[in-house]
Amino acid sequence: MAIPFVPRIDDAPYAVAEQMTPLIQRVIAKNPSKFSYHGTGTYILGTKDVVVIDPGPELDSHRDALHEALAGRNVVGIVVTHCHSDHSPLTAWLHAETNATRYAIGPHQVYEGFVEEDDHDPSEDDPEEKKNESDEERETIDLAFAPDVAVTDGEIFLTTSEFSLTAVATPGHTSNHLSVAMDIDRALFTGDHVMGWSTTVVSPPDGDMRQYFASMEKVIARRDAILWPTHGGPVTDPQPFLHAYLAHRVEREKQIVEQIALGNDTIPGIVKVLYASIDKRLHRPARRSVWSHLRKLVDDGVVTTSDGGAPRLLGQYQLAPR
Ligand SMILES: [Zn+2]
Repeated sequence: MAIPFVPRIDDAPYAVAEQMTPLIQRVIAKNPSKFSYHGTGTYILGTKDVVVIDPGPELDSHRDALHEALAGRNVVGIVVTHCHSDHSPLTAWLHAETNATRYAIGPHQVYEGFVEEDDHDPSEDDPEEKKNESDEERETIDLAFAPDVAVTDGEIFLTTSEFSLTAVATPGHTSNHLSVAMDIDRALFTGDHVMGWSTTVVSPPDGDMRQYFASMEKVIARRDAILWPTHGGPVTDPQPFLHAYLAHRVEREKQIVEQIALGNDTIPGIVKVLYASIDKRLHRPARRSVWSHLRKLVDDGVVTTSDGGAPRLLGQYQLAPR
């Protein structure tokens, strides 16, 4: 099923506060990339007493734009959806300026003792470019961020004279991912859980496909009227959009199980078949996505590892005996 992506916003202006609704402004940071699309959308909610969602990346032009947009207003809260480097880093500056309380589920989870397997395949490198791989292949993490207030799922954590905000825990993209519901407009700010232009990245160990499926079901059941993702335009008809996202993952999961049934039992082997039509440079992130599906399938009891150990990026897989 094709995902009905909303019209592109790549002509939206950078570094200015656009008035989206009477209570919502958006400032887009000039950090376009394959993860952030046109750039990070920072939201400012309210007129006088305002809440900022995801101050965004460490970028002078973005900081100056926020400074200008917030002049003469009272920042009563800063909400962070998760700690990827395009979302949280400017929180430190904004908190120092305003002393506003920082809200999030928690800091980024650290996986002590977790060792990455090296799946680098030189045949997938871009011969034209010598780039910094760690930046390109993975979203970088703002480990310095920690909230003043750790919110819990379902909690109405902030109320102004104009609106109130409820925490909607949506783990999957990261384990601490938070979406934020605003009562006015029945709006949900979805961070990277639901993006307006692409499926989100679910990369182990912190990204978890099982949680992602559950969070997607949870958002579907909420029946919000509009979704405001960090990347891409608003989703004004959420139900078909969310169902298409979920169907896409279910379909991918089915294809992975089929490949294993055919004896194609490694992640690199599966990616070569399922992603044959996409740029080879994207095969590495694709392997992490297939890995996250396999971790779910092992948890679900559909697939087992051939050595009986934990599901590894470079491990071998087989169907579970029925
Ligand atoms: Zn992210």
